[in-house]
Amino acid sequence: MAQPPATRPPDSALLERLKAAAGRGGALEDESDIAPYLTDWRDLFHGRAPLVLRPDTTERVSEIVRLCAEARVGIVPQGGNTGLVGGSVPDASGAQILLLLSRLNRIRAVDAGDFTITAEAGCVLAEVQEAAERVDRLFPLSLGSEGRCQIGGLISTNAGGTAVLRYGNMRELVLGIEAVLPDGRIWDGLRRLRKDNTGYDLKQLFIGAEGTLGIVTAAVLKLFPRPRETVTGLAAVADARAAVALLGRLRAVSGDGVTSFELMARNAIALAAEAVPGTADPFPDAPWCVLIEIGSGSERMGLRDAVEGALGQAIEDKIALDATLAANDAQARRLWHLREAIVEAQRLSGPSIKHDVSVPVSAVPEMLDRAGAAVAAVVPGVRPMPFGHAGDGNIHYNLLPPLAGSHADLVDKADALTRAVHDVVAAMGGSISAEHGLGQLRRDEILRYKSPVELELMRQVKSALDPLGIMNPGKLIR
Ligand SMILES: Cc1cc2nc3c(=O)[nH]c(=O)nc-3n(C[C@H](O)[C@H](O)[C@H](O)COP(=O)(O)OP(=O)(O)OC[C@H]3O[C@@H](n4cnc5c(N)ncnc54)[C@H](O)[C@@H]3O)c2cc1C
Repeated sequence: MAQPPATRPPDSALLERLKAAAGRGGALEDESDIAPYLTDWRDLFHGRAPLVLRPDTTERVSEIVRLCAEARVGIVPQGGNTGLVGGSVPDASGAQILLLLSRLNRIRAVDAGDFTITAEAGCVLAEVQEAAERVDRLFPLSLGSEGRCQIGGLISTNAGGTAVLRYGNMRELVLGIEAVLPDGRIWDGLRRLRKDNTGYDLKQLFIGAEGTLGIVTAAVLKLFPRPRETVTGLAAVADARAAVALLGRLRAVSGDGVTSFELMARNAIALAAEAVPGTADPFPDAPWCVLIEIGSGSERMGLRDAVEGALGQAIEDKIALDATLAANDAQARRLWHLREAIVEAQRLSGPSIKHDVSVPVSAVPEMLDRAGAAVAAVVPGVRPMPFGHAGDGNIHYNLLPPLAGSHADLVDKADALTRAVHDVVAAMGGSISAEHGLGQLRRDEILRYKSPVELELMRQVKSALDPLGIMNPGKLIR
């Protein structure tokens, strides 16, 4: 399959036309203004751009893309810049235009009766959650970056987060999309339909496309009734097998109300408790813990009693070692703080090798065993610090250096360690990127794991929609 055509650097006349198209206040040119947008959240990828544009309407986005297509100039869309695979920053050529969606940030409609919200791409997730709450509805997507990440970025990475088990990931939460196509045309697919069997489901192409097929400018998202009762708790378990068994029991007693089931290894909890202020560790001797959140649409279901009973029985049956339920919102927040502190604690402890993998839920324990053996064969004493959304089979399998080793030793072996983890996951029918996407970080790695047929189909889709190769060049696939 041919490589996508090369893009060209913009000349000064085009830069002037692009600035005019972005409208008043729609362009940043000063190096110091542009700088924050050129580095990704993990500080792994650094790029350059001659111009950063911030259009505030879909029509302006359309005109900008049309001009870039005419001149074959590459465009990189950026939302909250919280993506973890380097998809949102331009390359080092200095020839790509960076397009921020942050000023396209209106909530166009909230329909409590239809259980939908129509939001522009630059709306921050937390604001969408709040808009839903104001009409007594729930937008269930929830993740650590929700105060900053934007609807367009979440759609483009098909984000997951902590409530996928109950509500699905972004792919399942989108009913309609408005997008600017790579030639500048606007596709209005803002449908609010739950059923629509009229051919190919085009919106799905843009979900998880990481900006390589067009620019998402707005979306219709699904809302849900707000839970009337929520039970949050922490259970101590001996191993991941016990955790999976516990999940099955909790799903059964709660009418499948488990929204979050977050597995945390002992060393991850200990690091969080040590490094992040305000973190409590209720079960310091537990080899593993799971943070559990369960919701019910009715206050009369007796959810708390049912969960308490199931956890008590699990302790009796030696599936759980111990368990505690939050008595109020403040205690629930403290439990969540422990889970969220793991990410921050790992960042503070220096570079680590990160993996975002998934396998079928029942295979999580075996995957942890096999990956542990595989990485120990590469670097004896390496410390896996797994945690994550075990309820949907997604584990953040992060590696820290041996206690006696240095970060530099680990970084030297990073490729071999990643290969070891990904080979195990692939052999078990899993995914090497469960929720973060491919971006630049996993773009070449995926070539090893997808079949030639699948890669060819992906390249054909790319060249059908973006024959000039101007949309986020060099990301996801090449
Ligand atoms: C602390 C933290 C916790 C996180 N937790 C989770 C988690 O639990 N689950 C999870 O799935 N992810 C998680 N993430 C990563 C997650 O991918 C992002 O938070 C989010 O999905 C990206 O949104 P964004 O607006 O920041 O997009 P960006 O980072 O700006 O962009 C991401 C990609 O989408 C493209 N893009 C952005 N906007 C558009 C648009 N309008 N049209 C077309 N393409 C576009 C970009 O070019 C890029 O390729 C976490 C990140 C952080 C920092």
